Amino acid sequence: MDSGHYAEQDDRSAGSASSRSIRRTVEPLDHASVVLRWCRGLGCGRLVVATSPATMSSSGSEDSVRSTPSTAGVTPLRQNHQVDITTSERISVVTDPTEKAPEAEAASDSAPRRFLSPSGASTFRQCARRWRFRYVDKLPDPPGVPALVGTFVHRVLEELLAADGADRTVDHAKLIARAVWPEIEENPAFIDLALEPEAGRRVRWDAWRLVEGYFGLEDPVAVDVVEREQRLECDLDGVPFVGVVDLVERRDGRQVVTDYKTGKAPSQRFQDDRLHQVQLYAAALGAMGQPVERARLLYVRSRSIDTDVTDTSTGEAVEKLQTTWSDIHVAENTDEFAPTVGPLCNWCPYQPQCSEGRAEVERRYGPPV
Ligand code: SF4
Repeated sequence: MDSGHYAEQDDRSAGSASSRSIRRTVEPLDHASVVLRWCRGLGCGRLVVATSPATMSSSGSEDSVRSTPSTAGVTPLRQNHQVDITTSERISVVTDPTEKAPEAEAASDSAPRRFLSPSGASTFRQCARRWRFRYVDKLPDPPGVPALVGTFVHRVLEELLAADGADRTVDHAKLIARAVWPEIEENPAFIDLALEPEAGRRVRWDAWRLVEGYFGLEDPVAVDVVEREQRLECDLDGVPFVGVVDLVERRDGRQVVTDYKTGKAPSQRFQDDRLHQVQLYAAALGAMGQPVERARLLYVRSRSIDTDVTDTSTGEAVEKLQTTWSDIHVAENTDEFAPTVGPLCNWCPYQPQCSEGRAEVERRYGPPV
């Protein structure tokens, strides 16, 4: 998924009008008897949602996912989804904004460390130049709507599966969505989009439809959660690996690692490539003493892609990671980060800094208007 930049922004004047407009749309819920608390004191890491029945709607209408202002105390959105765990060396952490990147506290580790995440590796393989802009030059890579929507869906599912099995209902998900959506609205990246109120409502509604899509694929009540949002950090055959896995669950007596996806499911041809990431999670879990036997990508729009985890499958994924890690070092040592031009240049945030990318876009789509 797209990368993103969630740097704190002191002056939010840009886009504030839009933000205010969007927020006006939720005023009817200002008085809703929804109580949302984050169970920090108890250290249970749970969103506690209490409501009177009158506030619960089963209509699935847009209103059912309206934000409530009563979000104080809810776990803040991980604005470090693209966290950089700084290092004294040139290669910083390579993480991903949408793959539930390592928690901020890792950034305060006293000893600077370097890691490679699946998405960082993927960025390098797609285009080394882009990798340099992002991880060496540290140029902003603001998340677009798809990445923000992905964050929203991950947050809702994370909280949903934190509830007791019988409570994992659509109505409960709606309450969670109400609590989580303001985090998205208040994200500087969302504010910077300066969406018209109607466009903001559409994004919110589309995001909620993805959560509904999840319910169409499986019954969360039956999910036997082992771990959720688990941070992985280990050495994978010489590569310092980091990642956060959405879910480890038990299915038919076997441990399964699951990664949620909010984008379009790949065609058969690209499936193996997409499974690479979850195989890396499986390898990391194995290295950390939690072996899993199955891996799956849950495309909440459409379907689940499941595969076995074997020594061969994880071995291939780790070998590819090693190659990328080695290539990153070569690029650093030679200061050569070759551009890989192609259709993706049109969506690359670094096009203004990349003459090759601009030329490619012009070749494909004609001169800028
Ligand atoms: S514009 Fe294209 S070639 Fe340039 S950094 Fe982006 S993806 Fe790479």
